[in-house]
Amino acid sequence: MPEQYRALQGFKDILPDERPYWRFVENTAAEVAQLYGYRRIETPLLEETAVFRRTSGEGTDIVEKEMYSFEDRPDKDGHRQSLTMRPEGTAGVVRAYIEHGMFKLPQPVKFYYMSEPMFRHDKPQAGRYREHHQFGCEALGESDPTIDAEMIGLLYQVYRQLGLKHIRVHINSIGDRNCRPQYLEILKDYYRPLLNDCCQDCKIRFYKNPLRLLDCKEPQDQPKIARAPKIADYLCEPCNKHFTAVKRYLDLYGVPYALAPLLVRGLDYYTRTVFEFTSEIDKVALNGGGRYDGLAEILGGPPTPGIGFGAGIERIILELKRQGIQPPAEPHSRAFVVALNKTPEIKNAVLQLVADLRHADIKTDMSYGDRSFKAQMKQVQASGADYALLLGEDELANDVVTVKNQHPEISESEQRGVQVKRSELIAYLK
Ligand SMILES: [Zn+2]
Ligand SMILES: [Zn+2]
Repeated sequence: MPEQYRALQGFKDILPDERPYWRFVENTAAEVAQLYGYRRIETPLLEETAVFRRTSGEGTDIVEKEMYSFEDRPDKDGHRQSLTMRPEGTAGVVRAYIEHGMFKLPQPVKFYYMSEPMFRHDKPQAGRYREHHQFGCEALGESDPTIDAEMIGLLYQVYRQLGLKHIRVHINSIGDRNCRPQYLEILKDYYRPLLNDCCQDCKIRFYKNPLRLLDCKEPQDQPKIARAPKIADYLCEPCNKHFTAVKRYLDLYGVPYALAPLLVRGLDYYTRTVFEFTSEIDKVALNGGGRYDGLAEILGGPPTPGIGFGAGIERIILELKRQGIQPPAEPHSRAFVVALNKTPEIKNAVLQLVADLRHADIKTDMSYGDRSFKAQMKQVQASGADYALLLGEDELANDVVTVKNQHPEISESEQRGVQVKRSELIAYLK
């Protein structure tokens, strides 16, 4: 017996039965994104490793342990390039914006991407996949706080239109290159005497990336985080004004939010507004985003402000299921054609009828092979089709089709079936 294969650990098939959820999320998110003036972009799944190495941060877990990177086949000069399957969506979009000179267009340029696969070699655990799919938005070339509020308002509207309840928006400002360095010194002064008692990761963060001290999940460090100086108290005047405006505009968008003074993003190019959406039911993050005014320069572009978010589709679907929200059902067949006997003539007539109806845009199904009448009628029921269309010798001779309404509450005469002229059938079914 040949070996049976399974999908790789952390990878998942998305079967047709799951599709209604995916279609619901994709359609809703795309509709709202377009409503806000965002246009779809698709970037390649593979990029030069440097694109992510620079933007995801040298020395971070993503770059060191979680990226799917490999050497390409040698080019004609024998040179091998390091390639990476994208771990997140922003870097590719910003790379494309610079490469295509979109900074010359009227700004901002607003993109969304839909169900793009992302790859991270995470430790396998419940609900975490090594391949997952994201819906995301990026707005480049605008630093005005109106766009921060628009971005958050857009995502809030997506969750609301999906029918999700108990969604909470958390926001913070993490300053900029003007005021953050001073705050980081104050944070380090606070942590220095506590460092011996900190977890191993925090001891490294203290030197490499002190802002991420506030991201620590170890129980032993939680009281230290709670008492740490808050960056919101150390913002410079322009950052303060920007954050105040974001909050005012969020009110105008009708987005309820909570201030989250400990919410941070650990990379240098993140500036000012950061946000996170959580479900209050299980107190877990749905997704996060933020402003990244320093990112385009890291990728060799002109200084370009930007803001965006990525939201995992699988995570949203999990939340829909937890909240008992059903996606719209897939349309079932309008008609199911049944052969009353299996002469070659009847089989031809069945296939011709099925083809005609499908060409006329009527969703139609049929039975394959030589099943009995009873077996075919069972298939009709299982298919959920509205009508069974019966074809036999008599129907063929009279150029009619016997139409049986399959609705459970119909009159007896209709249950026996009505004869419809072949030439009037399409109009009848429509
Ligand atoms: Zn720690
Ligand atoms: Zn500032």
